Amino acid sequence: GGTLYIVATPIGNLEDLSSRAAKVLSEVAVIAAEDTRHSGRLLQHLGINKPLIALHDHNERGRVKSILDQLLAGADVALISDAGTPLISDPGYVLVREARAEGVRVSPIPGPCALVAALSAAGLPTDRFLFVGFLPAKRTGRRTALDELRKEISTLVFYESPHRILDTVSDIMEVMGAHREIVLGREITKTFETFYSGEAAQVLSALTDDPHGSRGEFVVMVRGADKAESGLMAGALDVDQLLSLLIAELP
Ligand code: SAM
Repeated sequence: GGTLYIVATPIGNLEDLSSRAAKVLSEVAVIAAEDTRHSGRLLQHLGINKPLIALHDHNERGRVKSILDQLLAGADVALISDAGTPLISDPGYVLVREARAEGVRVSPIPGPCALVAALSAAGLPTDRFLFVGFLPAKRTGRRTALDELRKEISTLVFYESPHRILDTVSDIMEVMGAHREIVLGREITKTFETFYSGEAAQVLSALTDDPHGSRGEFVVMVRGADKAESGLMAGALDVDQLLSLLIAELP
């Protein structure tokens, strides 16, 4: 059978495409892409002319069978997304899962990924992190999701779109506190790459003051809760509960 290659493509700077990625893309029989028009431009830039199959979240289940048939017939296939690493907040999960179930060889061609790039330059702890993808688009859902993460001690990483960045940062500030440390990575690898860091309130005002602040693509990173704050130091005891018990005992 053929091999399914999961190929990372640039998240902005085209020079980040690895030579191995270029080689694989020029050698496979077919390329499955999230958006064939968008990827067509990248492939044109690389001088690669290959049949493209659209594989996006809305048609993934339907398209998987025809891609699997080609793999089982011996053709090599590459999967790419619009930017970065496929399956990381991008389509491909159903294809990879079913390919493995059919015994097809699946091989990653690693490269750019906004989450890893952002985290590597943020200056936040990276020994433990929790990637949450996109938060809910509506405020109520977003606040509930943030509230559930309030006591998480891992560094939190979110993807966010430019038109929601201000709302999201202000929700983080309200739910997790104005002093919570956050880092935003904007337009990573692109001309206007910027990192904003500091306490939530400071980052929010820096973003509001910057005329280009809410333009571009963002990775939002939040320092995890302090161990004490998260209640873990007190074992099974809830800190607030403990305090109110102690206060009740005070003369
Ligand atoms: N698969 C991609 C990856 O490996 O990073 C992510 C795809 S996801 C649909 C798109 C989101 O990734 C954007 O909304 C943004 O949060 C983040 N992103 C992608 N490129 C970025 C960049 N150059 N700078 C900052 N964030 C970026």
